Amino acid sequence: MSKSLNFFKQHIDNPIRIKQAETLDSALNEHFKFDYVECIETGCSYGGYDDFGTYLGFYTQEKKGKLSTVDIVPESVEKSKSFYKTLFPELDVTFCAGDSVEFLNSYSGQPNLVHLDSWDLADGSHDDGAGCVQSMSVLEIFKKLNYKPKNTIRVVLFMNEENGGRGANKYEELSKTNAENHIFALESDSGGFSPRGFSFECDEANFQKVNSWKYLFEPYLIHSFVKGGTGSDINPLTSGKIVKAGLKPDSQRYFDYHHAANDTFDAVNKRELELGAATMASLVYLFDQYGID
Ligand SMILES: [Zn+2]
Repeated sequence: MSKSLNFFKQHIDNPIRIKQAETLDSALNEHFKFDYVECIETGCSYGGYDDFGTYLGFYTQEKKGKLSTVDIVPESVEKSKSFYKTLFPELDVTFCAGDSVEFLNSYSGQPNLVHLDSWDLADGSHDDGAGCVQSMSVLEIFKKLNYKPKNTIRVVLFMNEENGGRGANKYEELSKTNAENHIFALESDSGGFSPRGFSFECDEANFQKVNSWKYLFEPYLIHSFVKGGTGSDINPLTSGKIVKAGLKPDSQRYFDYHHAANDTFDAVNKRELELGAATMASLVYLFDQYGID
């Protein structure tokens, strides 16, 4: 057991939190092995049972890294300050009372460990760690291919999807304020299982257009293109003309893990996750090259 996990277990006796910390601890120590940690905790931890920050604080302190914690409730930030001071006297920690989107906008470092909330029984590895990682992988794939996109391609890891969609609403608000024009939005929030295709929200002309690309997807059995709901985080997004798409992975095992205590890192199959990311990159590439009608 790592020192961070041991420390966590000394301070927390909520079995759900302990299981979360155990799976995170083994994922970090087996697969990531960071030498240095720059961590962002979205939503302050301030003592008592619900303190996942206890693990993150100790882990960051152990790695002599730095931690930033942001919360929209000023009292939580104040409690958090005294909590961290007591438990982690040597930790380099920054506190921010405010909107996490604005905080991240002004953040200039390069974090390598970020805590986003999920449904609160497990890590939320399928729901929706998988979608976050796949979305970031799209850019990684383009970078590896040395692909220079025609359009701006942005990855958004939306906050608060599970209990209010405030991240999605804030994104739409900022995009209006900044007069941004989105032509295409793609969401992945149905688990990291083998991809099967996409659902689309668009007009008939654009649906015909995506169907003309279907043959490119067919050899990999990822060519189920249907009209239908795409994703709750891109739902509020409006633009003059926009095509929305949702990755459709195989749904047979989703509810074995959805909002359950076994939705942990080890429940995700690396190959299936990667296939989904590659499928998303393919569609993003096509819209980037050929635009929308
Ligand atoms: Zn969910």
